[in-house]
Amino acid sequence: MTSRTSERSEEVRIDVYLRDGTLARLAEDVREGLQATPKALPPKYFYDARGSELFEQITQQPEYYPTRAEQSILDEVGAEIVDRVQPEELVELGPGSARKTHALLDPMCGDGNARRYVPVDVSESAVLESASRLVEEYDALSVHGIVGDFEHDLGRIPRNGERRLIAFLGGTIGNLDAAERQTMLRKVRGQLGREDRLLVGTDLVKDRNRLEAAYNDSAGVTAEFNRNVLT
Ligand code: SAH
Repeated sequence: MTSRTSERSEEVRIDVYLRDGTLARLAEDVREGLQATPKALPPKYFYDARGSELFEQITQQPEYYPTRAEQSILDEVGAEIVDRVQPEELVELGPGSARKTHALLDPMCGDGNARRYVPVDVSESAVLESASRLVEEYDALSVHGIVGDFEHDLGRIPRNGERRLIAFLGGTIGNLDAAERQTMLRKVRGQLGREDRLLVGTDLVKDRNRLEAAYNDSAGVTAEFNRNVLT
């Protein structure tokens, strides 16, 4: 068991890009956000280790339908997506715990050509935990984690000449406003070769009551998650 762990740990590489200038950028974002009307803070600051843990709890609340809905779609069509794209590398933007990712990695590592998984997330704890879990679970897979900001650090993703699927799930694209979205999608485009593909998961328009229930769960987990941004 121990030797297997150390063998597989050679298949993990984690690059952390959040150190330099992060505090200065945070201060600037807070200054701008709290002077705006309405006041706002960028969602990426929710996700320290505690925030990532609270988000996991949110996904298990009965009112929070998006995770279960997207998971069931991925379970249904994951194998077909992998069959069509034939990815050797899966780059995932904001994977969090990467629980949903199994629906893509299972077929990629089963009949497919998987070599590498590249999670890009601001949450260092999420990247570390999922990387060590996934290399244990998938024998042929190496994990190259990037602890960074997908709005700024996409250029750091190394190209290996492998066919790439980029996944951006969980409706996280909704964290960006129209201008930010356009800038980011352009950068994503720059990471895609002719045969590569982008998979985006996002919600459709919903009844207001259902949405408000999902984002104001009765157990108060989302409220705690929101207050944690101030910590
Ligand atoms: N994809 C998962 C998690 C969604 S929560 C799911 O569908 O359940 C959003 C995730 O994106 C969190 O893990 C958060 O840390 C990460 N994230 C948010 N903004 C980010 C940014 N600007 N750069 C990198 N990761 C970001």
